[in-house]
Amino acid sequence: MEKKQFQAESKRLLDLMINSIYTHREVFLRELISNASDAIDKIYYKALTDDSLRFDQDSYYIKVEADKENRTLKIIDTGIGMTREDLENNLGVIAKSGSLAFKNENELKDGYDIIGQFGVGFYAAFMVADIVTVISKALGSAEAYKWESEGADGYTIEPWKKDAVGTEIILKIKENTEEDQFDEFLEEYRLKEIIKKYSDFIRYPIKMDVTVRKPKEDSENEYVDFKEEQIINSMVPIWKKNKNDLTDEDYEKFYHEKRYGFDKPLKTIHTSVDGAIRYNAILFIPENIPFDYYSKEYEKGLELYSNGVLIMNKCADLLPDYFSFVKGMVDSEDLSLNISREMLQHDRQLKRIEKNINKKIKSELLTLLKNDREKYEKFFNSFGRQLKYGVYSDFGTHKEVLQDLLMFYSSKEKKLVTLDEYVSRMPEDQKYIYYASGDSNERIEKLPQTELVSDKGYEILYFTDEIDEFAIRMLMTYKEKEFKSVSSGDLGIEEDQTAANEETSENKDLFAKMKDILAGKVKDVRISKRLKTHPVCLSTDGEISIEMEKVLNAMPD
Ligand code: ADP
Ligand code: MG
Repeated sequence: MEKKQFQAESKRLLDLMINSIYTHREVFLRELISNASDAIDKIYYKALTDDSLRFDQDSYYIKVEADKENRTLKIIDTGIGMTREDLENNLGVIAKSGSLAFKNENELKDGYDIIGQFGVGFYAAFMVADIVTVISKALGSAEAYKWESEGADGYTIEPWKKDAVGTEIILKIKENTEEDQFDEFLEEYRLKEIIKKYSDFIRYPIKMDVTVRKPKEDSENEYVDFKEEQIINSMVPIWKKNKNDLTDEDYEKFYHEKRYGFDKPLKTIHTSVDGAIRYNAILFIPENIPFDYYSKEYEKGLELYSNGVLIMNKCADLLPDYFSFVKGMVDSEDLSLNISREMLQHDRQLKRIEKNINKKIKSELLTLLKNDREKYEKFFNSFGRQLKYGVYSDFGTHKEVLQDLLMFYSSKEKKLVTLDEYVSRMPEDQKYIYYASGDSNERIEKLPQTELVSDKGYEILYFTDEIDEFAIRMLMTYKEKEFKSVSSGDLGIEEDQTAANEETSENKDLFAKMKDILAGKVKDVRISKRLKTHPVCLSTDGEISIEMEKVLNAMPD
């Protein structure tokens, strides 16, 4: 039989799996069970939306079977199955290779990093098996096929016999070596433990024939062993569990299991709403910026479930752009399974959920700001820019939501402060919220324009992000205080400008000469009272500041 080659990327990952000295090999089972569960989800969804199919709860399950003598471990599911093409396309390629794409070679060699924090799917089987066999029959197909591979040198596919729709994965478990133990993956207690640990919330029963020991009839000290089929997992999805029964670790596991990120969640929001609209949601704010976050490839959205059945992987309508960094899922009984993408956009229930979630994220962020400043700053350093874009991109309601979440570096505090903090510290006679724009805090500090304002004892916010000033212009005011650039012509500081004007007119020939020399570059040259130690500075008259002008000029037409 012809041996087919894996695609290059897959081969690389396979090599990594096979040669990994990884200690958490046990996750292979999590990966295979999660695939089985996905496959049952698919058939379940089909049955619910297609009247010609019936979903009989009892006939959908996952079964794990260990055979010590033959060193095989089987994972059987009654899911949707795979056609020949599916086997070829899905198991010969890495489905979600984003994980590999951004890892550099060194990180890959390390192995630990990538597998530990995050799954690699089907290929994980090669961490524990010499031969992986997949026998599958797809829903609606008359034939079944066998896919088999011994690893990096390729795979074969041939017709096979299988009556029931679904998939059977057979792992030929590796022999123990001096350094490595594989026997444990054939041990009942160990398999049970792994299933409990990683797959407890899988919605379908994970069955196993477990040895039970019972006293022999008519005897008190004699026992018999027999096999009994047990369901190992509790089948309650984590989002339906009580918050108080869950630990940070549970949420973290879920975060990784779901591949929301490689990092840890900085903040977890678990919410259950039971009222006019009912839903459970688990939302995460990542600790780090997702590697593709500021790229076009990044897709925002939450997983959407209708009463436990996944109906969409990334429902974008659930998140405003300014919270696009939020990961997680929503499960609602009030959504129809049959709903299409287009219909979802107009769905009133979904709109209400979106609104609620939006509010919830905001309030949780405010709480974080209040209770854990350090964490909030970490969050803001990662995603603050997105919030500022949010303010900038909208005339309407965004600023209400976002203005209290913004932070800027303060000339006085020498750290990030909120607008609320700024305003509450303003002296009686201060009319404006002052800001200065520049490339860095150090450079802003040296700006002559900041002198007078600082001299008055007023605080200045440093705008070092290009978006800052644009966002603030959109905001216009905060608590009725206007924003004012330190380089604007009128600083609103009561200085005796008349004296300055007099001085200017007394020397008008000199200034006319200077204007002449700088013709086309400046509009006016005059005496200013705002300078203390610097001889000269630039200021603006109009709406656009010098910094904004720079940004606008840099923009493509
Ligand atoms: P992922 O689950 O992230 O898509 P995997 O490497 O785990 O990536 O699986 C690759 C693909 O193989 C799946 O998307 C699915 O299409 C297919 N697949 C794997 N296991 C099964 C199974 N038990 N039943 C049906 N399809 C499966
Ligand atoms: Mg998978």
